[in-house]
Amino acid sequence: MMPSPKRLVILGATGSIGLNCLRCVTENPDLFRIVGLSTHHQVDLLLQQCATHKPQYAAVSGRMVSPVELLQFEQMKISLFTGAQALTDLVNAAEGDMLVNAVVGAAGFLPTLAAIELGRDIALANKETLVIGGELVMNLAAKKGIHILPIDSEHSAVFQCLMGEDPQSIEAIILTASGGPFRSLPKSEFKNVTVERALAHPNWRMGKKITIDSATMMNKGFEVIEACRLFGVRADQVRVIIHPQSIIHSMVEFKEGSIKAQMGVPDMRIPIQLALTWPRRVAADFPRLDFNVLKELTFELPDMAKFRCLVLAYQALAEGGTAPAVLNAANEIAVQRFLSRSIRFDQIETLVQAALETHKNRQHPQAEELVEADLWARSFAENFSPHSTGILT
Ligand code: NDP
Ligand code: MG
Repeated sequence: MMPSPKRLVILGATGSIGLNCLRCVTENPDLFRIVGLSTHHQVDLLLQQCATHKPQYAAVSGRMVSPVELLQFEQMKISLFTGAQALTDLVNAAEGDMLVNAVVGAAGFLPTLAAIELGRDIALANKETLVIGGELVMNLAAKKGIHILPIDSEHSAVFQCLMGEDPQSIEAIILTASGGPFRSLPKSEFKNVTVERALAHPNWRMGKKITIDSATMMNKGFEVIEACRLFGVRADQVRVIIHPQSIIHSMVEFKEGSIKAQMGVPDMRIPIQLALTWPRRVAADFPRLDFNVLKELTFELPDMAKFRCLVLAYQALAEGGTAPAVLNAANEIAVQRFLSRSIRFDQIETLVQAALETHKNRQHPQAEELVEADLWARSFAENFSPHSTGILT
């Protein structure tokens, strides 16, 4: 007998990951049913998605909805949530089996906690959730007995390498990184990096924020924290290695010296589909790795003097408490300011470092303290003038 379809709520349905999730749902109509979808601004696209997938609930978190748009939701008999609490309201209202969290930034944190409280499994793209409050999230997930399935390609790789393994047998997790567009660019050139160049990632097509995070390597720093939280390992067990081809998505080294790697073409649909269909693997016609074409797999150590954001992430992880939430929020604002050309590319790390140095850490924070630290860091980052620090000329 066919199992009943998995009921999904997708937050961030109009983004890069959200769109790929919906493609996967469209390809597998018997496996999934959409019960809720959200967007921040793209109401037209959300309405199209609603017409196709017929959810009972929708949310628009980032702008007012016009009377004409509202009428269209009403005609489809969709209950709509708007405003700052819209995502959490949607999670609380929709009876789903799984929350797919594909929003970008700290906005994903509280809705994830709400979904775990309700006993929903989580397919998690929103790594910021685990950076901000990973310990809280994982403890609650364990208490509620729910599964967190990583969508991030590196963590999906580690998750797959660990299938059937005893977590105690992990020696190290080796996260691969493409190195982004500036792997070979001298640090002295970072101050001249334009928004357009920073947005041109060599291997992946993604939303703007994660693309900039990849260029600074803050993304890899976040992924180190994400790996510690998801797999319960210490920071010194997580290593980063540059692998420009992005074919090996990450590796696990075991205690006797054996290493497992997970490979494939760089296509986010593969880890997305696995997170949605787990524990099953479902046939798909995604592109295959062609060993006749593949010429080489190369590796090098990351340049920690150049990519200071990666170092800052390790520091925030070591500090613990509210430091990773500050790292995340300061970075979010720094990236926005870079994209709006109010700071330079090389000043992203300056700003984040200043926020970490200024902030007063609180250990073992609850959700409210994490939200407070996030708000403090946002305000610090918005008012920060990189020229007044003396760090940069
Ligand atoms: P996008 O910018 O493409 O999409 C983000 C989605 O979230 C959109 O639906 C957007 O709405 C919505 N959104 C944006 N800001 C807010 C907010 N403040 N509150 C609520 N919703 C918001 O991002 P990606 O899909 O690239 O990334 C999503 C997450 O997945 C990120 O955490 C990223 O780090 C992670 N990830 C992404 C990968 C990728 O390949 N793209 C790979 C691995 C991880 P709107 O459309 O209106 O802007
Ligand atoms: Mg990744």
